[in-house]
Amino acid sequence: MKTQEAINTFVKETGGWVAAQLEACTRCGMCAEACHFYQATGNPEYAPVWKLELLRRAYEQRFTISGKARLALGIDKPITDADLTHWSTLLYEACTLCNKCSMVCPMGIDIGPLLHNVRSALSEAEVVPLELMAAVNKQVTEGSPLGVTDSVWDDRMEWVADEWEVELPIDVKGADMLVVFSSIEIMKFPENISAIAKILNKAGEKWTLSRQGREVVNFGFYEGSEKRTKLFMQRVFDAAKALGVKRVLVTECGHAYDALRWTAANIMDVPAGLEVIHIAGLIGDYVRSGRIKLKPGAYDNDGTITFHDACKIQRRGGHIKEPREVLNILAPHAFKEMTPNKEEAICCGGGGGVIAIKAADPQRYAVFQLKIDQMKKVGAKTVAMTCSNCRLQFTDSVKHFNVDVKIAGLSQMVADALED
Ligand code: SF4
Ligand code: SF4
Repeated sequence: MKTQEAINTFVKETGGWVAAQLEACTRCGMCAEACHFYQATGNPEYAPVWKLELLRRAYEQRFTISGKARLALGIDKPITDADLTHWSTLLYEACTLCNKCSMVCPMGIDIGPLLHNVRSALSEAEVVPLELMAAVNKQVTEGSPLGVTDSVWDDRMEWVADEWEVELPIDVKGADMLVVFSSIEIMKFPENISAIAKILNKAGEKWTLSRQGREVVNFGFYEGSEKRTKLFMQRVFDAAKALGVKRVLVTECGHAYDALRWTAANIMDVPAGLEVIHIAGLIGDYVRSGRIKLKPGAYDNDGTITFHDACKIQRRGGHIKEPREVLNILAPHAFKEMTPNKEEAICCGGGGGVIAIKAADPQRYAVFQLKIDQMKKVGAKTVAMTCSNCRLQFTDSVKHFNVDVKIAGLSQMVADALED
């Protein structure tokens, strides 16, 4: 194990901002209750502040007089291989990087990015869970964590176009918008491809898919590897440049949106003038501007519909109003909010790569019981969402707990309710 690499990474990442964040922590513990893993299990090690402990130890032992003294006197322990192995379970199997803890800290500490720094160090030490790393390696070599190679992608697109009788433009130079799906949509929810194509075609959008930039999900981002995060985003940006588009549309994938929209500009060159947008926001724009019209009340007779906020699209991405505006047209009487919701919503429990790790299943399911309670309280018969990773977690977990709730992608609902 490369323990020293992990410590070097902590030290390298500890600039003034990280130091100020760590110094500001009063150990009040208020972030614990914000974390769905702590809430669902009561395990004190799942408290966000404890997940940051290795970063704090590395910082204090290297940069503060008291930390150096505590280390010399044996009060504090140096970081060991065993620590890294243990924190790997906390960071990858009991944290979805949902960023809710950042919202409650009375000291204003932005815990989410610090947790990302801890994952980066664990990645350097090569203590990433094997299944997650296998998916990362597959994305490096095959272009997709779910094995969507060039030929699989070609076959899949041809099949979707035939099956749903929808036009899918591919590699069209001079299009305005590059649309990039996640392999979860391509392999598990292919109806999303036809749904989004129908919406774009109806709105008269000049859009295209790309063979070169065909995968939006970013397992390097889950891993915490800046190198691989950039590699996967570069493929999308290169495709956008080659096609000369003005906008990249991220479909129903939350982490991909976070990476491309917010992280990319901080770690790499984003092609000048290129805008990254999410389908949730785009649908809202189309509806507001009248570019698409929806059948009012189309879903008002199917029982209560609720909406699950995805951490990276709603809390972090800001697309909170648009899905609600759409649902208030589609189901003005049947749409009801779960509590808490919007910025304060509870994560589904499967994000951040957690759903890819078998050992995380017990806590992933424990967390989902919080969602079941929320859905039951509102009497939901359908739960809509804008992230296919959430949708995978919901689909798997309602089956696991035998809950009678229909799981729906918002794009699909919109496509099915388009006015002619
Ligand atoms: S809420 Fe903020 S100040 Fe309190 S323990 Fe958590 S990180 Fe530290
Ligand atoms: S980012 Fe989310 S899952 Fe991770 S520690 Fe914070 S609240 Fe918990």
